[in-house]
Amino acid sequence: MNVKENCNIVKDLLPNYIENLTCEETNQFIEKHLSECPYCKQIFENMKKNLNLNTTTNDKKVVKYFKKYKNKLKIFKIALVLILLIALGTMTYYYFYMKNAYIGAATDLYNMIAEGMYPDTFYATIEEISDSVLYGTKTVKVKGLEINDINHRDEFYFDVPLDNIPDNFKIKFHGTDIAFNQLKVGQNVAIYNYGDTLEEDNLIYLSDVRMIVVLDNEL
Ligand SMILES: [Zn+2]
Repeated sequence: MNVKENCNIVKDLLPNYIENLTCEETNQFIEKHLSECPYCKQIFENMKKNLNLNTTTNDKKVVKYFKKYKNKLKIFKIALVLILLIALGTMTYYYFYMKNAYIGAATDLYNMIAEGMYPDTFYATIEEISDSVLYGTKTVKVKGLEINDINHRDEFYFDVPLDNIPDNFKIKFHGTDIAFNQLKVGQNVAIYNYGDTLEEDNLIYLSDVRMIVVLDNEL
């Protein structure tokens, strides 16, 4: 075999040789040929350069990908922690807000019982406030909340005096007296009825509501 014939063999072997996949005998053969053939030597140099270049680029790509992935993971972790904190905060807020509201209503009830009055009490949402058929009063329609006993989950209505308000009639919010016009549809309230409950057209009329306590945190 002359040098020229060896060229093709060496060219075929060069990629493996660069990757150190060739055996010692082959290595010697290639190295001998490279030292004698500037043509193959040039090919070898170019090939080595390109291979190194590709490896480096690939490595960089892999590192870049993992960095990107790591950043995404970091953002995801931060988002998760934030969501958990917001959820925890909201739950804590509502727990204390509801607790305060019900403690306030319970205290008012306690004070009334201490005065010898025993109202029928339940929690409700205001559904409608309208003009009453009675002069100087407004009609309030409420829906009993699920936390009440079974007798207090229906719709009820009652009349509230606007003129000549009796001393024993109160509308309260956080222990303070408030005006009737501060009652709004959608508010949760505690109702204290001292009178009878009368069935009328699927609604139950409360004949003597003397106190309404707003349970919501804000008016
Ligand atoms: Zn050659």
